[in-house]
Amino acid sequence: MFKHKCAECHQGDLFPTGSFSFNKPFEMYERCPKCNANYYPEPGFYYGAMFMSYIFSAFIILGIVMLLHWVIGLSLATSFFWLLLIVVVFFVWWFRFARSFWLNLMVGFRPEKAAIAKGN
Ligand SMILES: [Zn+2]
Repeated sequence: MFKHKCAECHQGDLFPTGSFSFNKPFEMYERCPKCNANYYPEPGFYYGAMFMSYIFSAFIILGIVMLLHWVIGLSLATSFFWLLLIVVVFFVWWFRFARSFWLNLMVGFRPEKAAIAKGN
């Protein structure tokens, strides 16, 4: 799931472009190019992913600021500057990770699909 691959066959890509290319960052395939698994099982499927990523990012942001400020000893302003930089760089990756994670949570791995995908 960290590689943004299909939940069912673990081989097809979820997204047509690379995470750090910043080219069409939010465009996602509707179906797996390898095994034809449906990436949109129901309308609004990814609201859960948005909700989850919101909660986790709040924790991670707090964690980063605390680390920079208290552990490394940077000033608060500098810590927030670094935080902003980190958020900008990882924003697309994070968005995609949330979707990938959610899909893997809801849809299990299916070995028979992996076998089919290998043949393609
Ligand atoms: Zn697949």
